[in-house]
Amino acid sequence: MPAKQYDPLPGLRGGKNGHTERNSTIPPCTLRTSSRKNRVTLTITRRDGLVLVAPEYFDTSGVPKILERRTEWILRTIAAMQAKYPDFDPWNPPTIPPLLDLRCLDEQWQVDTVFQSAQKNPALRINAGHRLLLRLQEQPDNDQSDADQKPIGLTDANLETTRSLLNRFLVRKAKPILPDILAEAARETSLHFSRCQIRTQSTRWGSCSARGGISLNAKLLFMPRRLVRYICIHELCHTQQLNHGPKFHKLVRQMLPEVDTLEKELHSAEALVPRLLA
Ligand SMILES: [Zn+2]
Repeated sequence: MPAKQYDPLPGLRGGKNGHTERNSTIPPCTLRTSSRKNRVTLTITRRDGLVLVAPEYFDTSGVPKILERRTEWILRTIAAMQAKYPDFDPWNPPTIPPLLDLRCLDEQWQVDTVFQSAQKNPALRINAGHRLLLRLQEQPDNDQSDADQKPIGLTDANLETTRSLLNRFLVRKAKPILPDILAEAARETSLHFSRCQIRTQSTRWGSCSARGGISLNAKLLFMPRRLVRYICIHELCHTQQLNHGPKFHKLVRQMLPEVDTLEKELHSAEALVPRLLA
């Protein structure tokens, strides 16, 4: 999907170069086109901020009007997300997290970043003492005329590379541990699964197939262990009930009488995943 950055309402643009000011009312909007869409939708995601998804061949001259009409909703949604996610900042792209706090393993990994020549491939080195060394390709110097307008940021390519290198690290850390937590939960509940896969989905903690295969999100490592166990039991209950109907909820409650507390905890624990990896 091609993405394009749009400044907010022309009337709200500020700065001598016409760039968006940090404190303008509406954050920059990313425009994506999709051949499967037949109408415009506006969303705000933790990672990408304000995003407008439009049908292909959409007339972009209408964007400022749409944003103007939805200003109240945009500001309300941003305020709600800022309350939930302390690192939420729709005015700026995500940053590299300096620390990965893997609560499930009780391990904290420091992330250091170096820039090397563009001839070398980006890589992530795992060093002793729970230190990660991220080697990224040198990026072009930031435009100096921009310096007073925007914080020095990473190129989109470097952010994308970082995301995939860190996700790969998480999968590698998760493989020896998450299937064990699932197996333990299966023993405790006498529910069975056929196989366990580890992935890095962006919208779900886990899923269960009709054949009883369970897939778990490697980002669960950021959660405390009791919440990982809760997700495992939720997915195991799907081996009996594939939907989220009353029978499913009854089964979960039978296995976990404290499910309401866990559900609330899980909701706020989403903020434990760094924004770049959300
Ligand atoms: Zn479910």
